[in-house]
Amino acid sequence: MSHGKVKYLTVILFVGMFIKLIVPVVSARKSGQFEETVVDPQVRAITPLSILMVDEAMTVLSKGWSGMSPAEQEAFLTIYDPANTGEIDEQFVRIVLNNFQRIRRAFENDIEVKYEPVNDRCEGKRLYYTDIISLHICPYFLSETNDTRKARSLIHEFTHIALLVKDRPYYRPTSKFYAELTPRGSWTSQLPIVGPVIREIVASDTLYHPDAYAHFALVVSGQASAREMFLNYGIGDMNDSYDGHLQEDGATMQAIDSWSVAP
Ligand SMILES: [Zn+2]
Repeated sequence: MSHGKVKYLTVILFVGMFIKLIVPVVSARKSGQFEETVVDPQVRAITPLSILMVDEAMTVLSKGWSGMSPAEQEAFLTIYDPANTGEIDEQFVRIVLNNFQRIRRAFENDIEVKYEPVNDRCEGKRLYYTDIISLHICPYFLSETNDTRKARSLIHEFTHIALLVKDRPYYRPTSKFYAELTPRGSWTSQLPIVGPVIREIVASDTLYHPDAYAHFALVVSGQASAREMFLNYGIGDMNDSYDGHLQEDGATMQAIDSWSVAP
């Protein structure tokens, strides 16, 4: 092959990789026209912001625990060690970074987008849910004007997909259930072979909690004002979470959390 051809091929490869990076593949397969023409483009338009937030979280985490700023460490502790166990160390931060890399890769894979005009799971201001195979879009997604909320929730859903995990109590500064979560959860979750299954049944860890990843990415990407806004979705004792899904919680939501991360 001539030198010119090699150069030409290299340029094509480079452009191809670049397009792959900037145009994440979230596409509709075998879906209706409304999904293809209205819903799918809107979901696709949100993914670059989610990816940006995930990338910023990875930039912070790649510094390691000792390299993070005091504000970043505080954010990490608030989200990943709400029970104040003191268990956060370099190894834990590395696993979180590794999980973020898996989430990042999930954004590049093809996934089926399904619109759910009539579905019980789409209560309140919920934007999406996932059964791992498909990303289901709730009607409120089309009314939601806050792109940051859409992007944050999309990270939540892609964490389910990438790590194959279920929900733990959603992040809220006033949630007493979130406050009980520990970095690695119950010791039984550490057991060989059966550990990961037990972990998903007990669901008391932050290490595999979709909302921990979504919220950390939101906070370190400097979206504090949006974060505060999401706290106003309380409806009596049932609190609307960040992904708009009602989740029972003993605490009534009122306070805005006091910590924030400086840019
Ligand atoms: Zn979830």
